[in-house]
Amino acid sequence: MKLFDVYPLFDINIVRGRGCRVYDDKGTEYLDLYGGHAVISVGHTHPYYLEKIRRQAGELSFYSNSVVNKLQSELAEKLGRLSGYDDYSLFLINSGAEANENALKLASFHTGKKKVVSFSHAFHGRTSAAVNVTDNAKIIAPINGTFEVVRLALGDIDAVRRELAKGDVCAVIIEGIQGVGGIQIPADDFLRQLREVCTETGTVLILDEVQSGYGRSGKFFAHQYAGIRPDIITVAKGMGNGFPIGGVLISPLFTPVYGMLGTTFGGNHLACTAAIAVLDIMEKERLIENAARVGAWLMEQLKALPGIKEVRGRGLMIGIEFEQPITDIRRALLFDEKVFTGVAGTQVIRLLPPLVLTLDDAAEFMERFKRVLNRK
Ligand code: PLP
Repeated sequence: MKLFDVYPLFDINIVRGRGCRVYDDKGTEYLDLYGGHAVISVGHTHPYYLEKIRRQAGELSFYSNSVVNKLQSELAEKLGRLSGYDDYSLFLINSGAEANENALKLASFHTGKKKVVSFSHAFHGRTSAAVNVTDNAKIIAPINGTFEVVRLALGDIDAVRRELAKGDVCAVIIEGIQGVGGIQIPADDFLRQLREVCTETGTVLILDEVQSGYGRSGKFFAHQYAGIRPDIITVAKGMGNGFPIGGVLISPLFTPVYGMLGTTFGGNHLACTAAIAVLDIMEKERLIENAARVGAWLMEQLKALPGIKEVRGRGLMIGIEFEQPITDIRRALLFDEKVFTGVAGTQVIRLLPPLVLTLDDAAEFMERFKRVLNRK
């Protein structure tokens, strides 16, 4: 059987990783400034993380959600404490799209409505409701339908007010920082006004922190820069450092009912162990502070470079926008300078490195990046 060919692949076979470095099958070392789409939070093959997973796999990998899983409660307790949301409840699933799917479902249960407001350039995943609220989704979902969606310009609070005043919207969904959309940061004021108008109209405010959460922005959640508290927060990616897991953080506004939500694999023993290890490491190694510090340094250095249109970001979620397509720059970074980066659209290089990136790693990246720019 061959693979269903949906990913454009580089001819590089990564077989090993450690911290912010990965190695191909020929032994070549690469600096990883992408972390597999913001997934690698505590670094590749962190010894504490590996040890916890090995030990758990030797005990039990999986058992049904209908039997008490103390690991889920341990994870919920730690996540609540570290994120500042200890009064919220946690529902566990396997991915970011699934997290958003359940968030939207909760919002429609709660309000009895099915219209959703989302924003231009938003990306929320590829399952049917998640794709429904994603912008420009034609290529990944030719048929949309679960929710009625109104897409508004990011930042246009008057348009949001007008829409919510109609009284038929169940939720507003917004990313803490748009990732796929090109590292666009919603203004703190806009988020505060959004919070206000959602409260006034009884609309559920969902913050998609799948990419921007888990310490990446230099705070646990990117929306915490605005000082707001959403009704629902969705997480995945960095949560398991590569082990598939997602979560929905649910405010006390919602009352759980048996059978309301459910999943086979969500919150299994191995996934919870991985996620607990991630939080332990983040806390012990102060990775949120590290993301803020190293990210600020990187942004300052990048902003001083000539030939760049704009540098945007917070913490270790950084977009470098050029006037021209960045294909050649990215290829030169990868093949000549052995650095993995990501893209957003055609003109933005996206940096989402592991949160353990040191100032030395960042300086090394800058040297390599400058060499590529100087050669052009
Ligand atoms: N939400 C955001 C903001 C994302 O960036 C992504 C993935 O890139 C998703 C949701 C979907 O996550 P997953 O691919 O785990 O389903």
